[in-house]
Amino acid sequence: YTGKQNAEILSDKVKTITVDHYKSRPVVVNESSSVYEAITTMFLEDVGTLFVVDKDSTLTGVVSRKDLLRASLGQKSLETIPVGIIMTRMPNVTVCYEDDFIIDVAKKLISKQIDGLPIVRKTGRGSGLEVTGRITKTNITSLLVDLANNESI
Ligand code: ADP
Repeated sequence: YTGKQNAEILSDKVKTITVDHYKSRPVVVNESSSVYEAITTMFLEDVGTLFVVDKDSTLTGVVSRKDLLRASLGQKSLETIPVGIIMTRMPNVTVCYEDDFIIDVAKKLISKQIDGLPIVRKTGRGSGLEVTGRITKTNITSLLVDLANNESI
């Protein structure tokens, strides 16, 4: 083998790995939850991004750490501000599907300068999406470690 052939083998392997292999469980809050509740959930669940859903469990937005910090700098009481008014709202949320390739997710994280994406599937009710998972920079770091260890993936 030459070095180049090995690099090609690795590259081909990486391009076949789907989101499904490296996903985490999603943590969701309702649109009507307060900023205070969202901050508490973030600490308790130990995640950096919360997905926001409506009463039908359809994805409506995303709330990040900095979104919550920004809201906390305002004058209003954090118990009275719903996350629905500070979140990044659909259709501006970048999503992915279970069978998407992880390399394409990694490219989206870089181009959009975000930490993670919700993994979704179509609900069957209208154009709604339900959240089935979460994929973040941490999951992609795990993939890098597995590749370095030459684990079967
Ligand atoms: P932080 O804001 O804590 O640095 P991010 O870099 O992930 O975390 O988020 C940056 C901004 O992008 C935030 O305003 C957040 O609401 C938004 N954001 C986060 N994830 C997504 C996503 N999947 N699609 C669209 N916007 C997102």
